[in-house]
Amino acid sequence: MASVAPPTDDPLLRPAIKVGPGMSRRWRRGHPWLFSNEIEMTAQAKELPRGTLVTVVDAGGERLGVGTFNAHSLIAVRLLSRDSATVVDAGFLALRLRAALALREIVVAAPCYRLVHSEADGLPGLVIDRFGDVVSCQVNSAGMERLLPALLTAIEAVLAPRAVVLDNDTPVRELEGLDSYHRVATGELNGPVELVENGVRFLADLDGGQKTGWFYDQRDNRAFVARLARGQRVADFFSYAGGFAIQAAAAGASEVTLVDRSEAALALAEQAAALNGVAPVCRFVRAEAFAEMARRVAAGERFGVVVCDPPAFVKSRKDLATGLKGYRKMARLAAALVAPGGFLFAASCSHHVTADAFAEEITRGVALADRGCRIMRAAGAAPDHPLHPALPESAYLKALVLHLD
Ligand code: SAH
Repeated sequence: MASVAPPTDDPLLRPAIKVGPGMSRRWRRGHPWLFSNEIEMTAQAKELPRGTLVTVVDAGGERLGVGTFNAHSLIAVRLLSRDSATVVDAGFLALRLRAALALREIVVAAPCYRLVHSEADGLPGLVIDRFGDVVSCQVNSAGMERLLPALLTAIEAVLAPRAVVLDNDTPVRELEGLDSYHRVATGELNGPVELVENGVRFLADLDGGQKTGWFYDQRDNRAFVARLARGQRVADFFSYAGGFAIQAAAAGASEVTLVDRSEAALALAEQAAALNGVAPVCRFVRAEAFAEMARRVAAGERFGVVVCDPPAFVKSRKDLATGLKGYRKMARLAAALVAPGGFLFAASCSHHVTADAFAEEITRGVALADRGCRIMRAAGAAPDHPLHPALPESAYLKALVLHLD
């Protein structure tokens, strides 16, 4: 799709999409989407190529802005600008990128962060993670896919990166009728890229291996946990490439044990340990996390800090009950591994689990392990993952720090 000639935008020639009578209220109040049942789905509208730029017009003919349109998606229109005279081109995208960049430069020390977080940065359907001079883009809407040539021009103008990766194999693309692919769009990648988080060096594999990159959303939570870890034995279950464990080791943990079932993830963590000179205190264990926790509980092991940051247990609403039980069990096993007076960090990135439900399952799990506790910190994602005020439901990350008796 990226090979199609870039569509040029002319506000005067753009097709119009009419909002149904009384249907523009939410949009006018600041919501950035129109759903397919809120617009007049005419035969002409249905024929517009997925992702076409459209002018949004209300029932009375008033222009309400410019957005991208997809007749085949539940989210029919995604807002780009409330000024319908705006020309959506590389220059427009570069302005949005510069604004996103300016915000990250205020809140994150190193040039390693989520540079663009979709609607919150005025770039619907786009996520960009930055690793210094390499950027990785996830294009999640047909509109953004159509703008890709202009986007690549804008990225070049704003960041001039060594390489741009298109990590376009997320499941949400299917809802937009988009195919799945992963490629290096510009430049070259030779192996994993280095990133710095809270002053600690890491490696992320953007091309081979797990190619899931890095979870920048936990940056502040990792810094908090690292402060608790000084002089302690730390266990990091579902460690991935070592975000929590290696920062804990760098902060002076006496020993850190990383548990993950992925060899590729542990290999990256091992290299990160070496980069930071903490390899001597790190133990890498390739295992299924629940089984490994149970084994260590049975062996009577104890840690000053236990970290559990698993993949989403609830991927769709129908998994909710099973997933919640999973979090409870995880907390029960993890709590049994925490030394008296120690700390438990637990996180969930399951979209369908509310912060309240998560806290309830985690504290129930701790109680099942016969341990008293207090919640010291409840947090979400780091501020380079801002939320659009009309889309509070997009806050997916829940993180708790508990102090155990
Ligand atoms: N805590 C990590 C992110 C975890 S991502 C960080 O701070 O970056 C989830 C990780 O869990 C992946 O590395 C995956 O390989 C691992 N994983 C998934 N299911 C697992 C299981 N049952 N046992 C062990 N590891 C598992």
